[in-house]
Formats: sequence, C-alpha cells, structure tokens
Amino acid sequence: MSTAIPFVAETLTGITRQHTKNVVVNRARIEAFSDQASQFTGLLQTSLELPVVLNIFAEQTEKVLPFAGITYSNAENKEDITIGERGRHSCSYRLTLETETLGEICISRRQHFSEDDLELFEKLIALLLYPLRNCLQFQKATRAASKDPMTGLDNRRSMDEQIAHESKLALRYGNPLAMLVLDIDHFKRINDNYGHKAGDCLIKAFADIMINTARTTDYAFRYGGEEFVMLLPNTSPEGAMLVAERMRQVVEQTKCICHGETLTMTTSVGVSYLTSQDRDDSLFRRADDALYKAKNSGRNRVCSSD
Ligand code: GH3
Ligand code: MG
Ligand code: MG
Repeated sequence: MSTAIPFVAETLTGITRQHTKNVVVNRARIEAFSDQASQFTGLLQTSLELPVVLNIFAEQTEKVLPFAGITYSNAENKEDITIGERGRHSCSYRLTLETETLGEICISRRQHFSEDDLELFEKLIALLLYPLRNCLQFQKATRAASKDPMTGLDNRRSMDEQIAHESKLALRYGNPLAMLVLDIDHFKRINDNYGHKAGDCLIKAFADIMINTARTTDYAFRYGGEEFVMLLPNTSPEGAMLVAERMRQVVEQTKCICHGETLTMTTSVGVSYLTSQDRDDSLFRRADDALYKAKNSGRNRVCSSD
C-alpha cells in the first residue's frame, strides 16, 4: 500500500524521515490504523486548546502504540508539555508544515522502537499537524488580544483574568497576594514640554523597568495611559513595600534618552494586600485609593492601603 504524507518529520537523532514523497507502508497494524484515522482526526479537531489536543493525541496514540511519555515543545511559543514520563528510548521529530515550524515532538518508552513503530508514529503525527497548527494560531491570536501593543505588557483585560485567578489560588492555599498601582507623576507636563512621542518613549521605558524589576512569578500590566499595575503572588506586605520602593527609586534614577532629549520621571505607588473579604475589583480599588494618597501627599512616594 502506498500513502502520501504531506509533511516533513525530521528526526533529531540524525535520521531524516522526509515524507514529502510516497512512502511504502505494508504492515497489517498500520493498515488497521488507517481505518481509524478519520475518527482520530475528528477527535483532534474537537478543541483549539493545545494541552487538550495533545492529551487527546496521547490518549489515542496509546491505543495503537504503547509509550511512556510524549513531550511537545515549541521555543517560539514558550511551550513545553509532557504527558506521561520520559522513557529510556526516544525518538524526536521536528515538525514543519509547508514553511511553518510547529515545534518538536518526542515519544519515549522503556523498550526500543522498531522501524514499524516509528512509521506508525509518523502516521499519527501527520494527523496531528493541521489541528496543531490551528491551536498555535488560536494561541497567538488570544495572546495578542491580551497584550498592550506599545509596551508588550499584558493589558487590562488580561489583568482582570489574572487577578481573579491569583486571588482564588491565594485564598485557597492561604498565600499572601499584593498589588501595586503605579502612575507616572505630572505626565501631562512631559507631553506638553517634550511632545507626545517623548511621552510614549517614557511609557515604554517605564514598562521596561517593571519587567526588569518583576520576579518571573510577578505580573506587570499596563492599566491604561501612564498607569500600571503589578500583581505579586506569594508576597508579604513588607515584601510588597520593598518592591514598590525599589520601583520608585529605579524610576527616579533612570535617565531615558528620548528623541535626543535626556528625560527623567517619577512615579507614585499605591499598595494593597488581598484579604478574604475581597470581591470583584476591591483589591485594585484599595491600591488605587492608596495611590491617590501618595499623589496628594506630594507624589514620588509609596503609600499602603492599611
Ligand atoms: P498626576 O501626577 O496627577 O498623575 O498627573 P498627570 O499629568 O500624570 O495625570 P493626568 O491623568 O492629568 O495626565 C495623564 C496624561 O497622560 C494625559 C494623557 O494625554 C497622557 N497619556 C495617556 N496615554 C498616553 C500615551 O499612550 N502616550 C502619551 N504620550 N501620553 C499619554
Ligand atoms: Mg500621572
Ligand atoms: Mg493617570
């Protein structure tokens, strides 16, 4: 039997399996699988969520090809998903569809894979490719919708989702959660004196300071205009005040070269902490009230909601 498989699965072990031309497949189990292929494809198309689709892929693969673990990784999308556990013998494929790179997939188990096993796995991968591409495109679109294009920070929509998510986790596990609301001082004057482009340049510089100051588990958002939010999981009130003060100092000390001018700025910061009474946007509102305290008491300072 001869089957055309329109993709390139290149093994990372040095063997290149290029299925751009017809492949001779003559084993009974592979023929038997071909009868189930349309059902397999149908299942893979039931979701656009990458982890869900990979789990379906693993579940269905297991029925025809026993394995210990399947790992999918995609450096560009920062994805690294492992289903099961890695075994001693493995075979990895770099997945390419037309000119698009779709990441890498690795199958592993205790026993070695026969040529027959690998041909079957490659048939399974061929069915995964289009659903995988759809997931990656969906992921890209949803990620773009949650980003502020000017700074690359997450936007307000994403902030609402993350606050809800992190608040739930913090209350469930009894961990502290802190929030900073930061607003650039007298920003209107900067726009008036140096122009809107210089203002934009300072907003980007402010976002960079936030990214460099945040731990990997912290979140940095552009709330709007020249107002920003940091959400700090697992951070005590004392820790949050230290982060806020560090942010204030770094902003004050940073010299930004914007369109030939050396500009400086200051920021006021309001800090709040999650309590079990918090509902909806009350954590944000308390940090925002503290920010206005900081503004009213002279700006370029940190105030806590307590
Ligand atoms: P305060 O210290 O009280 O915060 O004073 P402020 O001047 O910073 O506050 P105000 O809210 O009066 O002004 C904010 C200004 O930020 C007004 C708005 O035109 C400007 N702004 C908002 N978004 C952007 C942007 O994306 N780029 C630029 N250049 N300016 C922006
Ligand atoms: Mg301001
Ligand atoms: Mg403002």
